[in-house]
Amino acid sequence: MYDISILKEQLASPKRIVVVMHAQPDADALGTSLALALYLKEQGHKVDVITPTEYPKFLSWLPGVNDVLIAEHYTKEVLLEKIGKIDLLFCIDFSVSSRLGALAFILESPDIFKIVIDHHREPEDFADLFFWDPKAAASAEVAFQLFISLLEQKSKITASMATCLYAGLITDTNSFKNPNTTPKTHRIVADLMECGVDACSVQQLIYDNKSLSRLHFFSFAVSQRLVFLPAFHTAYFVIQKEDYKRFDLQSGDTEGLVDYALSLKEVWLAAVLREKDDMVYISLRSVGDISVNLIAKKYFNGGGHKNAAGGVSNLSLTETVDQFEQILKSIHF
Ligand code: 5GP
Ligand code: MN
Repeated sequence: MYDISILKEQLASPKRIVVVMHAQPDADALGTSLALALYLKEQGHKVDVITPTEYPKFLSWLPGVNDVLIAEHYTKEVLLEKIGKIDLLFCIDFSVSSRLGALAFILESPDIFKIVIDHHREPEDFADLFFWDPKAAASAEVAFQLFISLLEQKSKITASMATCLYAGLITDTNSFKNPNTTPKTHRIVADLMECGVDACSVQQLIYDNKSLSRLHFFSFAVSQRLVFLPAFHTAYFVIQKEDYKRFDLQSGDTEGLVDYALSLKEVWLAAVLREKDDMVYISLRSVGDISVNLIAKKYFNGGGHKNAAGGVSNLSLTETVDQFEQILKSIHF
């Protein structure tokens, strides 16, 4: 249900609110959650932002990020004690409960009013209110519309809120290169700049702020860990556990790697298969008609968007690579 009046009613008196995002959050999940928390706090609500797992270190400059609770650092009991009673729960940038990982228990209480803000395909019906638009480039875009409805004037969006939303928009669109970028996306960006975003500095903080070891890792990955299969118009990286140690990789340090595979001429499908914590995480990207969200859903217990999706595998890294190559044989390139 997409009903602003219900949300306005819920927010009419001070509430105890928790904002959660998906595990392994990206800039859209984290930025949209932080923008929302800034808005809600300004309106007099008590707000906690929780991420199931650590957020990317390269986003540690986002306004309000230091107050984010990282659920994997606490036991369930300690976390519940910290957050106390919850009236409203906002679920940001996901609409499938499994994306909360070990934090999924937070959805179980029937007394909490749950609101989803998201743009992923095939949502589950676990919330009371959905602000959901699969055509939106990012959850930040959905949240922007929501703020306009709630605040009634875009000039009331603060520079900090706008900065958080802009971070989500540039990363989910890959700096406005992905086909999810629409005229509306650009109009929203123009509005965000008028609200005070320093667009150049945000671009710099996200893309030109790498540690030397991260840059060395990218160079190593391109020269040693890239598999190019021209017959299948596919290129993919295989990142081993040892690579994380060797380059002292922090959370989020592999983000953006998949785009190097996709940047190859005649490559229409790109992937990163990375081994971490006894799982293999799969990032998929495509150009044109290949629906990677369907591949992620069918084979890797995941999902996402047509041209950008992800999932996980419980098989070994080698077995996952074999499976991935088998899957390629079933795709009509
Ligand atoms: P990334 O490759 O950047 O981690 O993710 C690309 C897109 O796929 C994002 O929109 C992300 O939310 C989605 N995605 C990544 N991993 C998963 C997953 O395990 N399950 C689902 N449903 N979506 C995922
Ligand atoms: Mn998103």
